[in-house]
Amino acid sequence: MRLRTKSVVVSVSRIVRNVNDDAAQSVTARVTPGLPLAPGTVDITYSFIGTGDAEGISFTDTFRITIYEIDFRPIMTEMRYANMWESLLNPSGFEVGSFGGYTIKVEPAHLFPDSEIKWKITEGADKVSFMDGDTGRLIAVEGNAVGDFELAIDIGGEGGPIQPTPYICGKVQTLQPVPLTVWIVTNETTNVAKEVARVNTLIADANKVFKQTAMELFIPGTINFTNNPSWYTLDRANWPSVKELTGLSINTPTLELYFVNAIENGPPAFHIEDGIVISSHSSIDSRAFVHEIGHACGLNDIYPVQINDNGTIGEHSVAGQEIISEDLSLDWGGGYYPADMTLGKLIAENLLMFGYIVPKDTEDTTMPIDIPSGSIFGVGCTRTVNPNGSITAEWFYGHIAVGLGNMTTRKPESL
Ligand SMILES: [Zn+2]
Repeated sequence: MRLRTKSVVVSVSRIVRNVNDDAAQSVTARVTPGLPLAPGTVDITYSFIGTGDAEGISFTDTFRITIYEIDFRPIMTEMRYANMWESLLNPSGFEVGSFGGYTIKVEPAHLFPDSEIKWKITEGADKVSFMDGDTGRLIAVEGNAVGDFELAIDIGGEGGPIQPTPYICGKVQTLQPVPLTVWIVTNETTNVAKEVARVNTLIADANKVFKQTAMELFIPGTINFTNNPSWYTLDRANWPSVKELTGLSINTPTLELYFVNAIENGPPAFHIEDGIVISSHSSIDSRAFVHEIGHACGLNDIYPVQINDNGTIGEHSVAGQEIISEDLSLDWGGGYYPADMTLGKLIAENLLMFGYIVPKDTEDTTMPIDIPSGSIFGVGCTRTVNPNGSITAEWFYGHIAVGLGNMTTRKPESL
């Protein structure tokens, strides 16, 4: 309603000056927070009958408002599983010689056909090229040389390209192999083949996620087994026992993974400098596994709200905050996030380093597994492991290290 009233006032003053001009008036507006509009068009007809000094002047005119919506997120969690698209879309980076898939949503589709959505390389033209055309809502970009690039999109329509121009930044990188040392703790009843299959599935799923940072996990040797009842159900509160387990391999130039059956007095997976410990507990899944590897790469947990260990809500929260460019560092892209998206939603629905365990879903496409280009503003928590294994937590606001730019070598190693 606000928009309509305002536009009529503007148009009437113009009509009076152009009383003999029959050209249709046109106004274009973008869906933004606070305007409860749906994408589409609306024609408004109005008439004027002059009285007094304007006696004898009368007309009827129509103008059209086009309302459009663009959803173009450098931070998103969307995988396409058809043919070559088995990777995250809008990735922060990908491997040289490989490709990245990029997508934009523009509504209404009948007013903005694919042919009027034209991508261009605005930086790093020697780094990337379009694989199968440069128009449409979904394109593939090939990485030709290592380096940074930027893509921008001209979206046509009646009023010319939409401003500001949506853009996205990316990186072409060499593939970073991540060798793993794997230990599986067994007892007499362990189905070893099933455990090995589970480990291989977790690693395969992790590699789908880490395609966006051009990393590849692999086991260079064979999987190790140890039969030990006290580790089979590991007590996180028994720190000497944890250190003993994670000391099975020392200073290998690899990331060390220790698979146990269950973990008591602790989360179902955790990372310490000696390696990652993962339970076969039912609530553990690929997302939690990949999240812990994110920690091993130097990334930190991020939250929309501070929730203390005893379950109470703390003072820090960014949950309802509007998204602004300063909060997203390298991942702004012109600000084309959905109108109802808040910083809290963005963190919880998209980021791999979102710190709470996400309920397991049968479709991994809904899991928050995005690694953005850089740090994101949010609620953080520094957890320091004390010499006795206890943890001191300290909550704060700030730009949290959750992105590709926050990884140092992309090659985590355990002590
Ligand atoms: Zn975490």
